[in-house]
Amino acid sequence: MTVLSLNSFAAGKWVAPSGSLTSLKSAVDGRVIAELGAELDFAAMIEHARAVGGPALRALTFHERAAKLKALAQYLNERRDALYELSYETGATKPDSMIDIDGGIGTVFVFASKGRRELPDDVIYVDGNLEQLGKTGAFVGQHVATSLQGVAVHINAFNFPVWGMLEKLAPTLLAGVPAIVKPASATAWLAEAAFRMIVESGLLPDGAVQFVAGSTGDLLDRLGSQDVVSFTGSAATANLLRKTPTILENATRFIAEQDSLNATILGPDAAPGTPEFDIFVKEVHREMTAKAGQKCTAIRRILVPTDHREAVIEAISARLAKTVIGDPRAEATRMGALASLAQRRDVLDKAALIGSEARQVYGTENGFADGVDAENGAFVSPMLFACDDPDGADKVHSVEAFGPVSTVMAYRDLDHATALANRGAGSLVASVFTHDPAVARRVVLASGAFHGRLYFANRDTGREATGHGSPLPHLVHGGPGRAGGGEEMGGIRGVMHYMQRTALQASPDLLTGITRIYVKGATPIPGQKHPFRLRFPELEIGHTLETAERQVTLEDIEHFAEFTGDTFYAHMDEEAAKANPFFPGRVAHGYLILSFAAGLFVDPAPGPVLANYGLDNLRFMKPVSPGDRLKVRLTAKAKTRRNADYGEVRWDVTVVNQDGEQVAGYELLTMNQM
Ligand code: NDP
Repeated sequence: MTVLSLNSFAAGKWVAPSGSLTSLKSAVDGRVIAELGAELDFAAMIEHARAVGGPALRALTFHERAAKLKALAQYLNERRDALYELSYETGATKPDSMIDIDGGIGTVFVFASKGRRELPDDVIYVDGNLEQLGKTGAFVGQHVATSLQGVAVHINAFNFPVWGMLEKLAPTLLAGVPAIVKPASATAWLAEAAFRMIVESGLLPDGAVQFVAGSTGDLLDRLGSQDVVSFTGSAATANLLRKTPTILENATRFIAEQDSLNATILGPDAAPGTPEFDIFVKEVHREMTAKAGQKCTAIRRILVPTDHREAVIEAISARLAKTVIGDPRAEATRMGALASLAQRRDVLDKAALIGSEARQVYGTENGFADGVDAENGAFVSPMLFACDDPDGADKVHSVEAFGPVSTVMAYRDLDHATALANRGAGSLVASVFTHDPAVARRVVLASGAFHGRLYFANRDTGREATGHGSPLPHLVHGGPGRAGGGEEMGGIRGVMHYMQRTALQASPDLLTGITRIYVKGATPIPGQKHPFRLRFPELEIGHTLETAERQVTLEDIEHFAEFTGDTFYAHMDEEAAKANPFFPGRVAHGYLILSFAAGLFVDPAPGPVLANYGLDNLRFMKPVSPGDRLKVRLTAKAKTRRNADYGEVRWDVTVVNQDGEQVAGYELLTMNQM
């Protein structure tokens, strides 16, 4: 295999390595795989992102960006085989590579889908509800978010070269912000191959993405207030980089995922023989050996009831003994190599530190499969430790050996277990194996504040459980304290890290104009035509229909009660209804009011309204008594294009009585033809 020359991609051009070059070696046998080294014009790269990439992305709506992400995920998905091939040389087995490559692509798919479903077909994100600031509603408040106008610098770790890149790119691009990606050198050949595919897809606008194969030079010194650094790696590097003077002076956003001493707790109820015990042992083994333990979320500390400690050690050791360690390409292999010899040295050093406080209860000197190059390949055996004094120990709670290394500790009771879990001083994830909801709640109360994610598994979660170590695009990934204090993903929350939230205060008319969502109190647009006769593009936000009146009679209420079977006393029994503090006497059914409202505003003939598919935020504000007269105001509140044929219209529906008092309010959803 020829040595790969890893190119950077700067200001729209591929740039070959230059300056002092670094050789990158195969994790399996030490062969040189690639060379990298970058002497780049970082000022020009930042300028390209800010002046070309940013405006091009911001010209697209969230839905258009989401469509690009979906197409990109499909493009990468069809080219996975080439990436698996390169991934073997990082020491990863096929299942490891699938976490990285398929997991990364899957993350882009999820963001594409969330972008289309949860963000508007617009460039302004409306965040939360309207805040009424005065008595009459003439001055109201609303939070919105708009794209940052700078560049996102992504500094990624070596362990997941593809996932690590894509899980940051997807929310960044969806936010409309261009990115400069800096992969970790150790596995950069895989990141470069995936990045090359992104560029070759031609799907993203010029300037949307750039790539640094090598050092970041003075890149961080040039960042400003509209930029973001999103870092994954060691706490030492994170702490160094977050102190960059320009980053401090400009309050440049700095998101960090760093070291984490993740714990797992075997519940007090999960004794040997229970399904939870077996699931727990399987999960610990998987977390220790998947990716050879090089996962920021891997289980480092195993907390078990004192009585079950020996059974746990025995069961995990038995599984570890059956784990074939060898060439990641070989089918029998269950655990590959670490990413580099440097990582092996680091893991062995850190394991020795842990060993100063804990006994090693599993670990063989050379338990590798035949043919393994134990000298030039970065192979290590899994190491299981047992710490007899977890309260007095320090290293087991603070030293992260970034490999297949874990320590068993016994706890007296659940309070002790959560106290030990919290000794990690902030982590990405902790898991709990229990079938007892009371145990689960106590752990959340005692430990939630120390962990970005709490993972509960038991006999009921079965095959759908996604695994202790898998961050999901839908859920927050990140943790307090030692874990860096950052958050990534978490669905649309992850997009907001690349946008600025702004509180707007204005009149209803101005806010409607800004957000393109009708705000109550804005001047309605009286239509010539019934709004149900208008096609999606013709319908204006604020278009309003005022209906005629309809009286509700006692016969109506009785008829409705008999017809539907809802003969609740408040509708049928005057005396009983009167005794109820909410009702003046017999009242109309809420659903009768809704039905009459529809009867008042519907325009019956076939037309552009294809379907009524639900209503949101329904409230009945005032009882309706026999003799009351109802009328309805129907206003087009928001429009979301779904495809070339139709779009969703959200209508504000206000039902009032003869005195103009609102008796009911809701938002009606219809699908309207283009
Ligand atoms: P590093 O902190 O050394 O590197 C992380 C990233 O930062 C790499 O892309 C690296 O590039 C870059 N980097 C390093 N120094 C600088 C600098 N001065 N300026 C700009 N960028 C820089 O971590 P590693 O990847 O080597 O991993 C080491 C440890 O990090 C692991 O052993 C583990 O403890 C932890 N880790 C934590 C993870 C988490 O999510 N919590 C994930 C992965 C690792 P380059 O490779 O070119 O030096």
